[in-house]
Amino acid sequence: MTAVLESEIALEKTPLERYVPPAKPSLVGQSRAALAEALGAIGVAPAQQKMRVQQIWHWLYVRGAQSFEQMTSVSKELRAQLDRHYTLARPEVVAEQVSADGTRKWLVRLTGEAPGERPHEIECVYIPEADRGTLCLSSQVGCTLNCSFCHTGTQRLVRNLTAGEIVGQIMVARDRLGDWLGSERTSGPGLPTEGDRLVSNIVMMGMGEPLYNFEAVRDAILVAADGDGIAISKRRITLSTSGVVPMIARAGAEIGVMLAISLHAVRDDLRDKLVPLNRKYPIATLLEACRNYPGLSNARRITFEYVMLKGVNDTLSDAKALVRLLKGIPAKINLIPFNPWPGAPYECSDWEQIERFSQIIFDAGYASPVRTPRGRDILAACGQLKSATEKLSARERMALRAMAMTD
Ligand code: SAH
Ligand code: SF4
Repeated sequence: MTAVLESEIALEKTPLERYVPPAKPSLVGQSRAALAEALGAIGVAPAQQKMRVQQIWHWLYVRGAQSFEQMTSVSKELRAQLDRHYTLARPEVVAEQVSADGTRKWLVRLTGEAPGERPHEIECVYIPEADRGTLCLSSQVGCTLNCSFCHTGTQRLVRNLTAGEIVGQIMVARDRLGDWLGSERTSGPGLPTEGDRLVSNIVMMGMGEPLYNFEAVRDAILVAADGDGIAISKRRITLSTSGVVPMIARAGAEIGVMLAISLHAVRDDLRDKLVPLNRKYPIATLLEACRNYPGLSNARRITFEYVMLKGVNDTLSDAKALVRLLKGIPAKINLIPFNPWPGAPYECSDWEQIERFSQIIFDAGYASPVRTPRGRDILAACGQLKSATEKLSARERMALRAMAMTD
């Protein structure tokens, strides 16, 4: 950072890659309307479409069907017809790591790159607790934004995920966990013992800025929240944004999930450096959009994420300013210990400092737990997953973030 003038740091980069749909498309992640259209295209009469969509929806999202053959309530002819034109393909899990505390990470390979391009891989992290299981999903390969403390932001390649690839992450997680009606549940230490499902919560906190891939993220979340399918309540889904102000109102209106804001600084001059998007949408406009977020109440608070950077944003007067800044907004504050990566221009705040910072927040009436990172053992063993070391910190970050969000 030091040698580069702030004004030279690009606010954002443009997506370099595009998704190329396969000749035989997958029905995973399609909206009900798109499914009806897909059925119409293979000759299902309009009067039949709604009922057929309902059947397919149930097989896909309640039972986790991986082939049309399994859909025994659908006529044999229609199953054959579906099989000729469509698939139920999801992304492929190419590696799995299971931590002693039950945290699981899957390396997920996407298809659909332009000819000659390598398939992309993203990570999906599952964090179990006694009363819930939280899945951390990615919305993009890489990220168009350039937050200076974030490893994803340094990656050159960017591609938006499709709704199918976002829902596909839920599908593969539930496949691996046996979290479908009629499937044999995976057993092991750390898995939730309460409730009837292993994946009960979703956080959009993996790679990418979800509000820069709005339509796909919206469509995917609406599939996940549909009460006749995956049926994860919108109150159990959290979308994290670095502050794409004009999209926050749309997110409220069209998605309606819980919101998390990556705040990280209480002054514009500092936030401009940490989250360069702040130059476009400064703190005051961001907080105004938060105040106007529909459905806010003490039971439905906005989470403010604050990464602890040693000597940068971690003074006690920063903590006090943070409390003042959020006054009047129903809020939760999540302090995230900075996860270092090779070449990162920051260090994590000292533990004592994090505790002092957190005490001020606590004294102001906010619960501010700073948790021990989950899945440490598998993070350490990240090199065993196929990929290069530079991916390691992206994974650590994701696990940490998701861990920090499961309150
Ligand atoms: N792009 C979205 C969602 C993904 S990032 C966003 O920025 O909100 C999820 C959270 O992890 C964000 O709060 C992000 O700022 C934080 N984060 C990124 N890199 C980190 C790191 N190295 N250490 C700790 N937290 C990090
Ligand atoms: Fe993108 Fe979020 Fe990382 Fe910023 S913190 S670069 S918005 S993924």
